[in-house]
Amino acid sequence: MNSFLEEALKLGLVLEIDSKSGFCFGVSRAVKIAETHLQEGAKLVSMGDIVHNDQEIQRLRQSGMETVVHGSDADLKGKTVLFRAHGEPPASYAEMKAMNVEVVDATCPVVLKLQERVRQAWLTAKKEGGQIAIYGKRGHAEVIGLVGQTEGEAMVLESPDDVTLLDPDKKTILFSQTTKSYEGLQALENSIRLFLNHAEDLKVHRTICAQVGNRVPHLSLFASKFDLVLFVGGAKSSNGKVLFEVCRNVNNRTYYVSSMNDVQPGWLDTKTLSVGICGATSTPQWLMEQVAERFSEVWISCRERN
Ligand code: SF4
Repeated sequence: MNSFLEEALKLGLVLEIDSKSGFCFGVSRAVKIAETHLQEGAKLVSMGDIVHNDQEIQRLRQSGMETVVHGSDADLKGKTVLFRAHGEPPASYAEMKAMNVEVVDATCPVVLKLQERVRQAWLTAKKEGGQIAIYGKRGHAEVIGLVGQTEGEAMVLESPDDVTLLDPDKKTILFSQTTKSYEGLQALENSIRLFLNHAEDLKVHRTICAQVGNRVPHLSLFASKFDLVLFVGGAKSSNGKVLFEVCRNVNNRTYYVSSMNDVQPGWLDTKTLSVGICGATSTPQWLMEQVAERFSEVWISCRERN
């Protein structure tokens, strides 16, 4: 039997799943590491959601992976704890060691390198009386991991208004969470230069991951090509929210869906002849394919009704 997608394509629907959307290298690697350990029979527990996508977490749960939140009193004896792509502060490694729990470290190599750069910069700043600033979201796992490299001393700045948290007399080294936008980083840099008593005292490391940064211009182009765009992302994905806005800025018929059940017939009209499907760095390929199939089904019924 033909799938709805095959049927819709024959009837003239233009549907494209963005080949550059979906898991970034770091998330894809972490999921593969988890799958390998589960296949080998490990009792695997992810420290926090392995990816900001409930559907993918559910899939891995069915293969036996548990998820616990930081600070929970879950019994980890005899289990293997997975540190996800976002990375962890040194305190998490120490905690697992103290409990004698085996750790599988799936921290993205790009994040690991950034953690080391932040640590080295902090050691230098300590000697020279400087300060470390991190452009990121307070409470985000990657940011917690970065601040942990500085024994909690780095200042987290979420927006240009946060510059007042800095000391205007100190030399400042600014890093960015890997998933922030270049525009946001530039706005913060401008604000810090105005705030410091000596603008030249600021050194900026543009540590936005190319896997995310390059998606912005690509998605702007992609979303502008279609009558309608479905952006597939988890409810908790901050990267998803940013990239969704990028698509909506160029195509106001862009809708955020977390699962195929979110596709609404009311979004379509008889003039909807093309659809682009794209997603966040945490969106699995199989989920975008499910959404494509469901959209095709809805598109065929809409066509038959009119
Ligand atoms: S966005 Fe980049 S740094 Fe972050 S997990 Fe993915 S590949 Fe690694």
